[in-house]
Amino acid sequence: MADTLQPYEVYAIRYARHEERRTSENFIGGHDPHDDPPMPLDFFVWVVRGPNGTFVVDSGFDEAMAARRQRKILCPVGEGLRKLDIDPASIDNVIITHLHYDHAGNNDLFPRARYHLQDKEMQYGTGRCMCHASLRHAYAVEDVTSMVRKVFEGRVQFHDGVSQIAPGLSVHHVGGHTMGLQVVRIWTRRGWMVLASDASHYYANMEQSRPFPIVFNVADMLEGHRFVHRLASEKNNVIPGHDPLVLERYDAPRAELKGIVARLDAQPRF
Ligand SMILES: [Zn+2]
Ligand SMILES: [Zn+2]
Repeated sequence: MADTLQPYEVYAIRYARHEERRTSENFIGGHDPHDDPPMPLDFFVWVVRGPNGTFVVDSGFDEAMAARRQRKILCPVGEGLRKLDIDPASIDNVIITHLHYDHAGNNDLFPRARYHLQDKEMQYGTGRCMCHASLRHAYAVEDVTSMVRKVFEGRVQFHDGVSQIAPGLSVHHVGGHTMGLQVVRIWTRRGWMVLASDASHYYANMEQSRPFPIVFNVADMLEGHRFVHRLASEKNNVIPGHDPLVLERYDAPRAELKGIVARLDAQPRF
């Protein structure tokens, strides 16, 4: 069936960074407290472009949120999209992997888009789990309420498990990191690629089966590491959600976009 599909182009836009982060903050257990080197974390949104249109995966956060969370914006999301000749106002479909502040902000950037979200993520972000400070910490109430408003505007498409968004483009519930996290599977010239988002923050989380500490269900997170690899044609085709290595492994589509945009459906350097 895949033979008849038209491949999509896939891009990562690095819009922000958290420089002052240690290795011990990125893994549950298994680290030596005397040897805790820096391990910065990058923030991305992704673009999937092909014969069935242009799809944005996650909406990032804005300057106000960056200031509140002490993160550094490198290139605002809207600007990053325009560097790829994409007008945010023209986008019809935004896939939200989960509602954490770094994936579901910039609430007015896509005025005409339909948002794709798992049932369980809305349940998680509006239900009893948010009574616990440790579980709600990575959510911003304005992002969640903005999504509720979009529901009432008829702009949210809910998914329950696996859904095809377009031919060669599907979402898959994984859970683990949050109750309703979904990953995105895309047909590309390199075969099936998976945008894992926070199913695995770094390559090391999924490749070494070491869970990231922000987690709803550790067992589901560990299963998710294996699941995303099963969805992809090869190991390299799984793209983690926050790893600075992504911009080292993949080249920019044009020289002036180096450090901001990487083309993911091209062959990685390593
Ligand atoms: Zn997250
Ligand atoms: Zn994240």
